[in-house]
Amino acid sequence: MNRCDPAGIPEHPECFGGGTSQHWPKRSHAGKASVIVARLCWGLHDAIDNGFRYQGRRWANSVTDGVYTITDRETGDVLYERAL
Ligand SMILES: [Zn+2]
Repeated sequence: MNRCDPAGIPEHPECFGGGTSQHWPKRSHAGKASVIVARLCWGLHDAIDNGFRYQGRRWANSVTDGVYTITDRETGDVLYERAL
């Protein structure tokens, strides 16, 4: 079972910790309207949610028009995307 959808992209060669569910919009803001949009390992999930540097990047994610996208917060590079 895949515990981390972006596992294996060049920018994320290794996972850290167990699998977690990423919700969108953030569960803290949307409550039950929030849905699971990705499986992320704990390390990547924490870096995305808290904005700290991990594996040389600062990570961000978003959902636009039914596509889940992970980007580099600093360069805007698209690192991973997946249709929901
Ligand atoms: Zn991972």
